[in-house]
Amino acid sequence: MAHSRPEILTADTAGIDRAVAIWRKGGLVAFPTETVYGLGADACNGPAVAAIYQAKGRPGFNPLIIHVADLKTAERFAVFDDLARRLAAVFWPGPLSLILPIVPDSGLSPLVTAGLKTVAVRIPANPLARRLLGQFGGAVAAPSANPSGRISATTAAHVIDGLGGRIDAVLDGGACGIGLESTILYPASNPPALLRPGGLAAEEIERFLHHRLARRDDPLHPLSPGQLATHYAPRTTLRMNVKSPPKNALWLGFGPDCAGATLNLSPKSDLIEAASNLFSFLHRIDKQAEAEGKPLIAVAPIPETGLGVAINDRLKRAAAME
Ligand code: AMP
Ligand code: MG
Repeated sequence: MAHSRPEILTADTAGIDRAVAIWRKGGLVAFPTETVYGLGADACNGPAVAAIYQAKGRPGFNPLIIHVADLKTAERFAVFDDLARRLAAVFWPGPLSLILPIVPDSGLSPLVTAGLKTVAVRIPANPLARRLLGQFGGAVAAPSANPSGRISATTAAHVIDGLGGRIDAVLDGGACGIGLESTILYPASNPPALLRPGGLAAEEIERFLHHRLARRDDPLHPLSPGQLATHYAPRTTLRMNVKSPPKNALWLGFGPDCAGATLNLSPKSDLIEAASNLFSFLHRIDKQAEAEGKPLIAVAPIPETGLGVAINDRLKRAAAME
């Protein structure tokens, strides 16, 4: 849906109405938060989430943070235990993203979490963002609104400068106050782990918990591998670029020449559709391979252009896990 120039929406009821309407149609709207501008899409709409990755030109699928207006909405998507609830009560709204288990059948696109069983969620403090999210009513997936590899946008002009022709609209709420990304915390580990430092100082969380957080660079409280964001990979061996699969394989197709494929990422060779199906189809085909005792998932060739680069990046990682 991207236009040659994005609509510039004003920070009022008319602007919010328009932004919500674009999200409901599966479009991309950049919006201000107290940290940086986010590039938002409906987190339950797979092709819309795929369009985020395409607009940013990300070479891979990093999981995205979902933004919601209130705790009740957050609980439709993420499972809160007692600690998560206390952290939310103290630090939300604010620049803290919590990594929590996903509510089963929440409707969240698996592309949001890049196939992981956890989701990063936060309630931003910016009043305009909260009004916008409140009116939308659901979860908005939003990474920073800058092309991959460039610095984050803290004004609408930065957003237009970087992503101008690739998004539908930007809601202009002026300059962001903090200008730093959110702090990312994984509360379920022992001790809770700081996955990314950001706008909320780790010391504030530690004062609240009366405990040191695990950190990447802390020799006394290091992160264990299980606390790091691991990538999703199927358990069955995966092979790429297979044009005609062997008998013992299930075949994940792409394009019209894959008659007989177990599943087809996009029969019409649409990379947005393929990206939005990638993680759910990998989960399904992996389960089916295990159930049928098939030792191999064969994947049809995916063009190395646009979103194909990110799709192939993920498939390569999965293939290397053998
Ligand atoms: P950005 O979208 O650019 O703000 O970056 C989001 C950050 O959150 C990335 O560093 C991700 O690796 C991290 N993240 C998001 N979801 C998860 C998750 N489920 N588990 C671990 N890390 C996550
Ligand atoms: Mg970023």
